[in-house]
Amino acid sequence: MALTTIDNFINNEFVKPTEGAYFDTFNPAHGVPHAQIPDSTKPDVELAYKAASTAFPIWSKTPKAERARILYKIADLIDARQDEFVRAESKDQGKPVSLAKAIDIPRAAYNFRFFAGRILHSVEEGAELEGVGYNYTQRMPIGVAGLISPWNLPLYLLTWKIAPCIACGNTAICKPSEFTSLTAYMLCSVLKEAGLPAGVVNMVFGTGMKAGQALVEHPRIPLISFTGGTVTGAKIIANSAPHFKKLSLELGGKNANIIFADCDFEKALTTTLRSSFANQGEICLCGSRIFVERPIYERFLNALVEGTKKLKVGDPSAADTNLGALVSKEHWEKVKGYVDLGVEEGGKIECGGKKPASLQGEFQNGYFLEPTIISGLTPSCRVMREEIFGPVVTVYAFDTEEEVIQIANDSEYGLSCSIWTENGRRQRRVAGEIQAGTVWVNTWMSRDLRMPFGGMKKSGLGREGGEHSLDFYTELKTICLAD
Ligand code: NDP
Repeated sequence: MALTTIDNFINNEFVKPTEGAYFDTFNPAHGVPHAQIPDSTKPDVELAYKAASTAFPIWSKTPKAERARILYKIADLIDARQDEFVRAESKDQGKPVSLAKAIDIPRAAYNFRFFAGRILHSVEEGAELEGVGYNYTQRMPIGVAGLISPWNLPLYLLTWKIAPCIACGNTAICKPSEFTSLTAYMLCSVLKEAGLPAGVVNMVFGTGMKAGQALVEHPRIPLISFTGGTVTGAKIIANSAPHFKKLSLELGGKNANIIFADCDFEKALTTTLRSSFANQGEICLCGSRIFVERPIYERFLNALVEGTKKLKVGDPSAADTNLGALVSKEHWEKVKGYVDLGVEEGGKIECGGKKPASLQGEFQNGYFLEPTIISGLTPSCRVMREEIFGPVVTVYAFDTEEEVIQIANDSEYGLSCSIWTENGRRQRRVAGEIQAGTVWVNTWMSRDLRMPFGGMKKSGLGREGGEHSLDFYTELKTICLAD
């Protein structure tokens, strides 16, 4: 089958990479190449910078109402092409079509709608300084932003950056993940059709080592919004430090899912199946460390295993598929390596742990892994401490509230946590003690874009969402007018 060729998008035109090199990207469900990506380098980033910096003076002065109009139009066009985006996201990433349709693509459209509305309704601060004058604040767009996104929720997370960035009047150079560039490429046509002026959003495809690093090290790109792994985040801090860039880093997690004996059992169980295995466990917010209070441990574990065994793994386009393929062969090997490590560390595989035997035809070479539950590990084991980012969870029995808070917090990560209890006082007490940027009580993945989002410890730096995105994508200035 002919491979789709992806090109860079600079100044509203599709252009070939300056060095002419491309590499293959794979359809994870089939394990075969399906597209070619430009292997962009520093000169491509330089071309994108020229376009973005030329567009900045005009775009930053474009009235908010006009910027919002274009953002609403982008959202409408994504909606109009929803099926096409859904199929592409599934084919490129391996996720079930049903998930892309329910979550990824609607949220990509909503990101544009949300920030279009947000800039129209923002109010700045003002205060009279008695006898002296009047102070007020003004937000200034910053310039050309570098937006670097990962492969797990490709369009969802890329648009989470583009929408606030351009809504605030900045221009952007995006570097989507080398594993999942297809929907970003499709978005380029949407941006152009929506009337976004040339140079406001530029897309440079390729690897993190070349294109990503060139963005981070570019001396005239003053802000970088990055979502990805913690190790990469550390490199971005180091490489951008000489230029004092403004950074927003949304990084890895090893999230606790704490289930008290007084929980609503069925609700906790159903949601835990999702929070463990949605998107093949490739969501930074998945609750991969499950802690269950001892009185219900056996019952909960048995029910979880039973529910997990019923999940269907395979053809991402089948309506009843629960888990598709992992994103790449390398990632499959990494996740499987953790399953093997779990056994070496003394764990018991309660279910899963291998490639499903049922795969037929073109799916036999896909990167599928059964959803896996491991019990019997202690909190100091690597499998319980390191981010796996796949369909693998550990289950552990705890005895007291104090104990589970201590174990949940004994992690270098602090992204999110779910707590299941019907006791109102305990809800507030435990939520108050947990070290994580987001704590959900009796729910999971309920996201409100008006609220701050980000991680503590090695899960990130800074917050985005609502006002916090405006804080990141603008410089806030105080102006004092003397009486
Ligand atoms: P990576 O850190 O490997 O990559 C993320 C992006 O950074 C990719 O576009 C990658 O390029 C690029 N990159 C890699 N090296 C550099 C570099 N030196 N300089 C600049 N850019 C670079 O993460 P993954 O794509 O593997 O995504 C999974 C990770 O993302 C997990 O740890 C997950 O927890 C985290 N994540 C966090 C979220 C949050 O909100 N906190 C949300 C979603 C995911 P390339 O194309 O070559 O990969």
